[in-house]
Amino acid sequence: MRQPLVAGNWKMNGDNASTESLVNGIISGRDDVTNAEVLICPPYILIPRAASVLERRGAANIAIGAQDLDINANGAYTGQISASMLKDAGCSYVIIGHSERRSIYGESDADVAEKFKVAQAGGLIPVVCVGETLAEREANETESVVARQLDAVIDAAGVEALADSVIAYEPVWAIGTGMTATPEQAQDVHAFIRNRIAGLNADVAAGVRILYGGSMKPDNAESLIGMADIDGGLIGGASLDAESFLGICKAAN
Ligand code: PEP
Repeated sequence: MRQPLVAGNWKMNGDNASTESLVNGIISGRDDVTNAEVLICPPYILIPRAASVLERRGAANIAIGAQDLDINANGAYTGQISASMLKDAGCSYVIIGHSERRSIYGESDADVAEKFKVAQAGGLIPVVCVGETLAEREANETESVVARQLDAVIDAAGVEALADSVIAYEPVWAIGTGMTATPEQAQDVHAFIRNRIAGLNADVAAGVRILYGGSMKPDNAESLIGMADIDGGLIGGASLDAESFLGICKAAN
């Protein structure tokens, strides 16, 4: 049985004051979410504030993740943050290969695979994002794109490494657009991902959590997460509002 996971990707939003109130707001409804795991991924600079609110409130049932990491351990890499720094700041997860990292910052499949390995070596659970653009979907390339992105990680890290990771299927055309994939569209790709992994290792495929991301909201979360291979959500916009985020957590529950 895979425990549902709801992860909030705050992207480059917030400040200390909003972090304080958002985290407090999530804590206030967290205890109603008994079956799902809850994860927040603030911008780097707000991670310590989020961690301190959680500690102060004794809310160990909300995990913290980062949105990216550098592949190097330390040294002359101006502006970068390493896995050990994230661990030290209280992170247990890190998002890898978000489509914004791929498209805006030019991260390749190989870069994402390297980050995946570095995250795991540093004791972090990677949440590896895959997904096609609208043009790729319209060209019937969804499966080949997702397979290419997934295989890069499997080739670099080995299929067994997926057991200690989370996969997020995020169709790029659905991110931040309000154009949510239908439950059937999402389920088709989730099943494709799981079957592809099952071809290499059935146990890993059965256990790995595959999240859906792309305009998930409280009113569409239940129908998406209710699908057989959808194990939760990676939430952007709706994770910035405690009530919306908790609404999705409750749907996953
Ligand atoms: C995301 O960026 O990971 C995401 C899913 O964003 P949104 O929920 O805003 O579409």
